[in-house]
Amino acid sequence: MQILYDSTRGGEKNVTASQAILKGLADDGGLFVPQSIPALDIDVQTLAGLTYKETAFEVMRRLLTDFTEEELKYCIENAYDEKFEVPQAAQLRDCGRESFLELYHGKTIAFKDMALSILPYLMTTAARKNGMDKEIVILTATSGDTGKAAMAGFADVPGTRIIVFYPKDGVSPVQERQMVTQKGDNTCVIAVKGNFDDAQTGVKIIFNDKETARILGEAGFVFSSANSINIGRLVPQVVYYVWSYAQMFKNGRIKDGEKINFVVPTGNFGNILAAYYASKMGISVNRLICASNVNNVLFDFFSTGVYDKNREFILTSSPSMDILVSSNLERLIYESAGNDAEKCSELMAKLRTGGVYEITDEMKKNMSLFTGEWASEEECDEAIKKYYNEYDYVIDTHTAVAAAAYKKYTEKTGDGSMTVIASTASPYKFARSVLHAIDEKYDQYSDMEQFDILSEVSKTKLPDAIIELKNAEVRHKDVIEAGEMKDAILKKLGIM
Ligand SMILES: *Cc1c(COP(=O)(O)O)cnc(C)c1O
Repeated sequence: MQILYDSTRGGEKNVTASQAILKGLADDGGLFVPQSIPALDIDVQTLAGLTYKETAFEVMRRLLTDFTEEELKYCIENAYDEKFEVPQAAQLRDCGRESFLELYHGKTIAFKDMALSILPYLMTTAARKNGMDKEIVILTATSGDTGKAAMAGFADVPGTRIIVFYPKDGVSPVQERQMVTQKGDNTCVIAVKGNFDDAQTGVKIIFNDKETARILGEAGFVFSSANSINIGRLVPQVVYYVWSYAQMFKNGRIKDGEKINFVVPTGNFGNILAAYYASKMGISVNRLICASNVNNVLFDFFSTGVYDKNREFILTSSPSMDILVSSNLERLIYESAGNDAEKCSELMAKLRTGGVYEITDEMKKNMSLFTGEWASEEECDEAIKKYYNEYDYVIDTHTAVAAAAYKKYTEKTGDGSMTVIASTASPYKFARSVLHAIDEKYDQYSDMEQFDILSEVSKTKLPDAIIELKNAEVRHKDVIEAGEMKDAILKKLGIM
């Protein structure tokens, strides 16, 4: 069965998967969604015998139907190789009735690697399929992590270049070091004087500038974006939910068809939406628990049906979840309205103008698989300490939000279902906050010292990303004014 994609705002219909990946965002500003979610018609015994790559193939071939078998296998083979420090790309760790699904064994030790390591291959393959012969230039402004993960994914992928701008004084020292040491002949990192908004605005202007696009086109380049609304990032994320269910079965943790909970530390709503798609493909799910930090817009939304972004933005120790507008929620809104693009556009317009919208009772009923929960900074610290003390297991600050939210959920509901908690970052990525939660006596040590302490405390070896951070040479030194971004791009591409 061929799966085609429509925009959530109704402006584009019947787009192939490869076209949707190439475009990223629809022309009407909407997000591409599959017209239907195909069933994963494979029994769990068979699934349990598949490797991660084989699971990826079975899931992705059903959603990205215009890719050939050879094309998909080429993408999967190149994505989930030795870049990952565990044999199966992901890994489960059992602690009582919960199992942590570790998604952080890739290049940048956070879960975005799971999708960003395959997106470049999906994109270049999509370009070839659609007769586009230009070199793809990924342009990104980053407040830290996404830009790095995108670069790690695109580094040395033939047919692509990537240019990342970051605010000179808006990222942590570790994040800056991660970026300026990025390897790959096709990567380019530039610091912009100013804050993240300056860099982001600059990128948006250049991205939408027809004159720049024309100049680039003549020189054989085309801009694209790797941000999290691209369907090419969502689909690869469905894989690990399917894989983890099969592994739970294989490990004797659940019976065939037993319903489990997934708890997902949520920011932009991409990761948990992938879990929802996995359930629609046939994975038996009891509840999808959407965990927020104190920026708990989504908790309120699932409790009341009102999405209201008019509130204070709070910086937390789980920064990748400090988000007030969760872009990927639009896909759930569209679907819960019965694939009604008009209704979806109306609500998104309300969000843009007044910052608030309310869904109908019917829509609310259609998303009843979701439960919102949230955790304070103190509750997250307690969760880190608890798993360390009880299971000798160290989780990061984002995973801690999920673990703490899950605890509140079970206390409220008494739900004893087996549960998979998505573990989205390595504790090494947030070593300072993690060690602080375990014992304040570690506060006095430097960032570099803390890595070694964490290695001892967690009885794990330093990930390659941290070793590289310590030793790698600085390759990117440019610092520019925000107004110089366009010229910098043209210069880097050899156009002027
Ligand atoms: C991006 C990110 C999240 C949030 O994921 P979404 O798909 O945006 O909901 C959670 N944890 C970490 C470590 C992340 O990098």
